[in-house]
Amino acid sequence: MIDLDALRERLLPERDGAVHDSIPELADADPERCGLAIAGADGAVRRSRDADLPFSVQSAVKPFLFALALLDTGGAAHDRVGIEPTGEAFDAIKLESGTGRPPNPMVNAGALLTAALVDGGDAQGRAERIRSGLSAFAGRDLVVDEDVARSEHLLGDRNHALAHLMRAEGTLALEADDAVAAYARACAVLVDAEALAVMGATLALGGCNPVTGERVVPTHIARDVVSVMASCGVYDGSGRWMRSVGVPAKSSVSGAIVLSAPGVLGAAIVSPPLDDQGTSVRGRIGSELLSAELGLHLFGAD
Ligand code: GLU
Repeated sequence: MIDLDALRERLLPERDGAVHDSIPELADADPERCGLAIAGADGAVRRSRDADLPFSVQSAVKPFLFALALLDTGGAAHDRVGIEPTGEAFDAIKLESGTGRPPNPMVNAGALLTAALVDGGDAQGRAERIRSGLSAFAGRDLVVDEDVARSEHLLGDRNHALAHLMRAEGTLALEADDAVAAYARACAVLVDAEALAVMGATLALGGCNPVTGERVVPTHIARDVVSVMASCGVYDGSGRWMRSVGVPAKSSVSGAIVLSAPGVLGAAIVSPPLDDQGTSVRGRIGSELLSAELGLHLFGAD
């Protein structure tokens, strides 16, 4: 049985990386924070110290937005967004050549589109559908940090640029500002490591939440989402991630990483200092240690 507090103690001396400063709420994050949690197939959740501290989910929301978009469009979202890795930064101003689609749902262009595809009737309905859908993945009622949502919306210039570019290409039907607002609110949903681990477990276990027993998405959607996490979830660090950790995951600029080990468990590690690819430094090292200790690498042990 892995001791998550002991693993946390091993991670704390790591001093590399820098806290993301795109919005004041992220710039203010405590770099010493480090929380870990694991949610198993039997619904048991294990946690370290700090696993109950709230943070905005940021890009760790992207797999779940993709899942909700696939659910709400009856799979048609597959025609609207690509699934190939980009080898570029999360907010690169670039669409798929030829089609004008976002390259994949794990970069900002893709998540702006998948957020827009979630069905809610109007902007308020869509925001509520996203919040309640994420809550079903987490097995508890999640709330939006309104300050973070406002800052993301106001200061997300590259996201506005991407939304306008997709409008120009005819691949985004929603008004550009509405798409940015929907995505900004999704990024601003508050979770903690424990909730995020359960969310990762729900995807890893075929779409059924192991804590509540609720089927959140069908098995084929969970499988599609986890497949894209494996190839694209850590942006331009995805290849290295799969080699060293070997578990499908999604990184985020709040320092959270959600992991979905297919058929086995979900996990989350949160620590704000990031490397150049926008991945939590302690999160990456902790994921490597977790994978090695629990034998989670998809392609076998060392
Ligand atoms: N809200 C962030 C952005 O759109 C998310 C990026 C990330 O977490 O990687 O810039």
